[in-house]
Amino acid sequence: MRIKDNIEKFRKELEPFGAKLIAVSKTHPVEKITEAYASGQKIFGENKVQEMTAKQPDLPEDTAWHLIGHLQRNKVKYVAPFVSMIHSVDSLRLLEEINKQGQKSERVIDCLLQIFIAKEETKFGLDHSELMDLIQSPMTSSLSHIRIKGLMGMATLTENKNQIREEFKSLRKIFDELKNTISGNIIMSELSMGMSADYRIALEEGSTMVRIGTAIFGTR
Ligand SMILES: *Cc1c(COP(=O)(O)O)cnc(C)c1O
Repeated sequence: MRIKDNIEKFRKELEPFGAKLIAVSKTHPVEKITEAYASGQKIFGENKVQEMTAKQPDLPEDTAWHLIGHLQRNKVKYVAPFVSMIHSVDSLRLLEEINKQGQKSERVIDCLLQIFIAKEETKFGLDHSELMDLIQSPMTSSLSHIRIKGLMGMATLTENKNQIREEFKSLRKIFDELKNTISGNIIMSELSMGMSADYRIALEEGSTMVRIGTAIFGTR
């Protein structure tokens, strides 16, 4: 009941922005995900490969699984057969492995490039020049089993709303720059930013996908 209400609230709130809701179900049991699914939510985000692959068989076929956490190359093979989008691609080597496993599964896997925007040591992601190198690499354009659909970023965990806004603005700026450099397997249309604590700011700054855990499922 409560999960359903939360999802309906988000659906209404996101509608004017045309943004998608990724329900972040990490640490929560399959029963809760099923409850969310029953209220019409089809996209779920998990940050760990093992957890996602364990839960996936228990949800209906048309559930879309988004991997949002840091991904190690040796674990790509476990998610490649079913993952709907990987938000956390932060190197060409990882992209090559996703391509290889996508080929094995006869799939084209949608990816977002994670960009480092926070003022924290702990957040993963590419910086601006690494991003440009990756986008412009001939290797990238040769990968036929991946599709780069956009960018993902996480703001610093802080109470300072101005800082969060500036970080999201910086990501939006990079996103806008790249929107004009569309090529074969790069279609920059998604900007994944915003979590429970900062999604309103993210929406105002142009987010197309918010990743919401706590505000839907409660505290972990
Ligand atoms: C856990 C997580 C979220 C959701 O966080 P909440 O604060 O619970 O909404 C979003 N993105 C990533 C990458 C996460 O790991």
